[in-house]
Amino acid sequence: MSWGFENDPELQEELDWVEEFVRDEIEPVDQVIEHAWNPRDPVRNALIKPLQQRVRERKLWAAHLGPELGGPGYGQLRLALLNEKLGRTHSGPVVFGCQAPDSGNAEILAHYGTDHLKKTYLEPLIEGEIVSCFSMTEPHGGSDPTGFRTTAVLDGDEWVINGEKWFSSHALWAEFLIVMAVTEPDAPAHKSMSMFVVPADTPGIERVRDVSVWGHDEPVGSHNHLRYTDVRIPAENLLGERGQAFAVAQTRLGGGRIHHAMRTVGLVQSAFEMMTRRAVSRTTKGSRLADKQLVQEMIADSWIQIEQFRLLVLRTAWRIDRYNDYRRVRADISAVKAAMPKVLLDVAGRAIQIHGSLGISKELPFGKWVMESFHMGLADGATEVHKVNLAQFLLRGTEPDDGLFPPYILPTRRAEAQARFAEILSAAADDGDDPA
Ligand SMILES: Cc1cc2nc3c(=O)[nH]c(=O)nc-3n(C[C@H](O)[C@H](O)[C@H](O)COP(=O)(O)OP(=O)(O)OC[C@H]3O[C@@H](n4cnc5c(N)ncnc54)[C@H](O)[C@@H]3O)c2cc1C
Repeated sequence: MSWGFENDPELQEELDWVEEFVRDEIEPVDQVIEHAWNPRDPVRNALIKPLQQRVRERKLWAAHLGPELGGPGYGQLRLALLNEKLGRTHSGPVVFGCQAPDSGNAEILAHYGTDHLKKTYLEPLIEGEIVSCFSMTEPHGGSDPTGFRTTAVLDGDEWVINGEKWFSSHALWAEFLIVMAVTEPDAPAHKSMSMFVVPADTPGIERVRDVSVWGHDEPVGSHNHLRYTDVRIPAENLLGERGQAFAVAQTRLGGGRIHHAMRTVGLVQSAFEMMTRRAVSRTTKGSRLADKQLVQEMIADSWIQIEQFRLLVLRTAWRIDRYNDYRRVRADISAVKAAMPKVLLDVAGRAIQIHGSLGISKELPFGKWVMESFHMGLADGATEVHKVNLAQFLLRGTEPDDGLFPPYILPTRRAEAQARFAEILSAAADDGDDPA
């Protein structure tokens, strides 16, 4: 039987190295660069590229990928433990070559790209030389992809794309975009769309607005509103079969969601660490914050929430490794995805409260993390949609009960038990040994 909550010594050694590397090398870089994803920023390149090289030498580069794609084939459980360490930083995932959305886009290209697309985009993407964009959500609604209006029409040996996309994160830096468009308007909604690789310099792509979000200080918004007007791409840039966009999207979304959750564990752990340090350091009315019971409650509630969430994430990662089939763990991933924003909101909120005015100031990151919790409640699908998916899965296969009252009410169960044990009960009663 294999069951345990301890790392084997080799893994622990790697994780200890990562922890030290993150604290000593990556956290300081976070303080001076604007956006770790921007490959055109010379300061970012000067600071991040040498760190990436050290990660490669340590054989921890692109740990989400299997050996066939140049990764160490870590598996999701080990990746979860690694990502926890990276999650406390902004640049960590980029330094380790496992950042969203590029990690998911690489998985799509690896599964569905032609040799030419792999050579042109997958290889430099995995090497960290370029970044990419996943362009799916549309301005009139993201939660219901069946309502998307962007179209792609085959014209000779080219697809012609027309439409608008919204929140296409990192489009301003991307070398290519993965775009979802209606190709089979007469098919049922879930079979009507296809997925394409669109080179970012293709004529007809217009950046309508560079949208920025609360919580991210960036000089130019990195969630871009794009308009595609007669954008022509080669026929071979279709990913997977015509009409299979939903299946292709799942290749990236399942992994992407759980990877965000792994990193969020690290984020809330670091909020917790600061919260406890402040509680034992600050004194008011003659005693430490740590000695006030209402503060103790905040500490206890935070720890419980973090550990519950962490266990759910690790269990889900374990199930992905075990079954190697994202469809089989979709409900688990939805549960993790729905739990994630609340844990971050609650823990970051308590960290603000315990730090008082300092906590709400821009001298600590908690306010940013509160906003981050709302990003997490939307990106890769709204919390409500994931809860609905989870509930539908959990309810599937449960049969309705006949009758006015369910058969599990206590009077019914007691009557059944009395009938089953009637002989013993009546013998005991005859002996005058009344069990009641
Ligand atoms: C930081 C960030 C980065 C993102 N990056 C990308 C990206 O790179 N590429 C991309 O394509 N998209 C991206 N998105 C968009 C994201 O996928 C959408 O925000 C998400 O799918 C929700 O769509 P929407 O914003 O249009 O909200 P809407 O669909 O308008 O939904 C609004 C609200 O309605 C409610 N709601 C919706 N559906 C249901 C339902 N079935 N049941 C109950 N309530 C419901 C929920 O409360 C939901 O939050 C990003 C979003 C964020 C916040």
